[in-house]
Amino acid sequence: MKVYYEDDIDRQLIADKKVAVIGYGSQGFAHSNNLRDSGVQVAVGLRSDSPSVAKVEEAGIQVMETAEAAAWADAIMVLVPDHLQAEIYEKDIAPGLSAGNNLMFAHGFNIHFGQIEPPKEIDVTMVAPKGPGHTVRRQYELGYGVPCLVAIANDASGAAKDVALAYAAAIGGARAGVIETNFREETETDLFGEQTVLCGGITHLMQAGFETLVEAGYAPEMAYFETIHEVKLIVDLIYEGGMSLMRYSVSDTAEYGDYVSGERLIDDGIKAKMKQILGEIQDGSFAKGWMDENRAGRKRFLGMRSSHAGHQLEEVGEQLRSMMPWIAKERMVDKSKN
Ligand code: NAD
Ligand code: MG
Repeated sequence: MKVYYEDDIDRQLIADKKVAVIGYGSQGFAHSNNLRDSGVQVAVGLRSDSPSVAKVEEAGIQVMETAEAAAWADAIMVLVPDHLQAEIYEKDIAPGLSAGNNLMFAHGFNIHFGQIEPPKEIDVTMVAPKGPGHTVRRQYELGYGVPCLVAIANDASGAAKDVALAYAAAIGGARAGVIETNFREETETDLFGEQTVLCGGITHLMQAGFETLVEAGYAPEMAYFETIHEVKLIVDLIYEGGMSLMRYSVSDTAEYGDYVSGERLIDDGIKAKMKQILGEIQDGSFAKGWMDENRAGRKRFLGMRSSHAGHQLEEVGEQLRSMMPWIAKERMVDKSKN
């Protein structure tokens, strides 16, 4: 695996360019603010009626209509939601592209699954921070960075990779390391990780644990602490020193229970289901299902969102967090600003 650091990268390649960041959500906020602080000439592209316009202005960054930003820029980073990218690309971005421009993504979904097909004379690259936008911004401000992936789908100019690396450095990624991959590998591993472990796996594991305790008559507050709140404390230890550091820190009783019960729970059946889910990602059926859901108006998706948001565990969690005011004090997400 090839990894690039600050010294391997010519930052001038992005300093010489006008950069448009399309969208001001989780990633758009982080990329545009980090680019600006790195001295890059950056503008954010949005719909003129977007509620984010005021947030961008407050951050002191130039804001333009998406089509105007795409036409103005030499490098265009597409940070609108994946399911809207193809439509926004056709309408507002494609008309503004000219030969030698670098069209960039933070996730390979639309290029890999053929939703967007840019012309041959455009460089097509990916710079994907391996973390949520709020962390990308927070780490940059602290003088650190979140590791990034870079990938090249099309190198028309001969400098596609060097420009992508310079961009990755300007958002702080090279402080931690920039890893080279390709669109297929990034797209498939990212979808697999979020579905089986990071988002789908962990939330449903927590919820099943919470429900098991509550259904057995234990206090919901106790259930919340044990099966949800404390996950962070355990994950922090794993993040710092791997599973063995976590097992060093917990009691021998907890460690013994980890070994004997963990493997009964996460057994070969779970891995077989993971393989099936990976197969559906690789053969494009997950992507097709998600695009169909969007075309059909997202009714099923929004229904699942609201039923999950109404689960008892969310209510209990909100009450318990109000007893721990330090959580809000150290918050990364302030919905009025980012
Ligand atoms: P998001 O949903 O947080 O934000 C999207 C933004 O797009 C919104 O804030 C809005 O300002 C803008 N937008 C919506 N419709 C628009 C339109 N018609 N014209 C212009 N702008 C419009 O999105 P996100 O999570 O930051 O994801 C952006 C990209 O980054 C995706 O490709 C995603 O896969 C990738 N990514 C996200 C994360 C993450 O942590 N969220 C991590 C790595 C990669
Ligand atoms: Mg992701």
